[in-house]
Amino acid sequence: MRIDRILDDRYPCFSFEFFPPKTDEGMENLFNAVAELKHDEPGFVSVTYGAMGSTRDRTIEITKRIKRDLGVEAMSHLSCVGTTREELRAILDEIGEAGIENVLALRGDPPQGETEWKPTPGGLKYSTELAELITQNYEYAVGAACFPEVHPEAADMESDLRFLKKKVGAGARFLITQLFYDNELYFNFVDKAREFGIDVPIIPGIMPITNYQQIKRITGMCGATIPAELERELSARQENPAAVQDLGVAYATLQSADLLARGAPGIHFYTLNRSPATRAILSALRAWRPWEGGERPKPVLAAAG
Ligand code: FAD
Repeated sequence: MRIDRILDDRYPCFSFEFFPPKTDEGMENLFNAVAELKHDEPGFVSVTYGAMGSTRDRTIEITKRIKRDLGVEAMSHLSCVGTTREELRAILDEIGEAGIENVLALRGDPPQGETEWKPTPGGLKYSTELAELITQNYEYAVGAACFPEVHPEAADMESDLRFLKKKVGAGARFLITQLFYDNELYFNFVDKAREFGIDVPIIPGIMPITNYQQIKRITGMCGATIPAELERELSARQENPAAVQDLGVAYATLQSADLLARGAPGIHFYTLNRSPATRAILSALRAWRPWEGGERPKPVLAAAG
């Protein structure tokens, strides 16, 4: 089923992101985690696409198996890195042959060791071109990325939003945010996006903190900030991994509850291929139901016209 339709049918829509592991053991862990999380009735699961297409086959294979074997709707991520337009079309054909109906259209980051983004000769420069390529040639529901703290290469929020508007114009029917730890950044971003006429659902991306060094590395790479108060509590526990995890689950639960109470269409959890933290958060949310009494977001298909 297309994710734009799922977002119309389900409120709130919880989704989970996984990355293709390199080993058989990692693969087994991933499918165990998805099977566990299936109990929480996800709206969809998404599978990332490695740098330079390094996970191309695994991304498609895992997405296909999640849908076919576990009966959970799934989405493949796809990036423009190191790939020509023809190669992208071949990958998109494969995605269709695998029965996948949803694609997250991304530009991707420069390969390791390079700082500047350069498109591959014969390839695409921005994710907008990929969204366009997909909508002009395929029936997939297209999603795209967005950045409450502004994409690191963008001059400012306004120019980032101008390009985001084009991406939606090119066919992106829903957006998933980069991870963030301050909800005001999300609500400020959504308000500004609406002012720019971007009216598709903007699903907040939440990464429960489970490891201090890891979250410092990830936020450093993607340009997300950790609020000073949270940083203080995390660093006070950095020698105690279990205490960091407890704090991470508690914080993500509060963050998600506030997002849902204030009208977010759902939560996209960056799971890092593990289920316990996300399951604990979801169990608390389902027991508390913070979305009840809030204003339900308007349907996607009606919004997209
Ligand atoms: P774009 O939309 O192309 O934007 C990149 C930059 O170019 C921005 O600064 C934008 O403002 C600017 N820009 C856009 N259009 C124009 C234009 N016409 N002229 C000038 N400037 C323009 N990476 C992976 O490799 N694999 C993944 O699976 C993956 N999954 C992700 C999932 C989510 C939810 C998110 C938030 C990110 C993900 N990423 C992934 C990372 C992503 O590829 C990087 O953040 C990348 O730097 C930007 O991708 P984008 O699709 O937003 O790029």
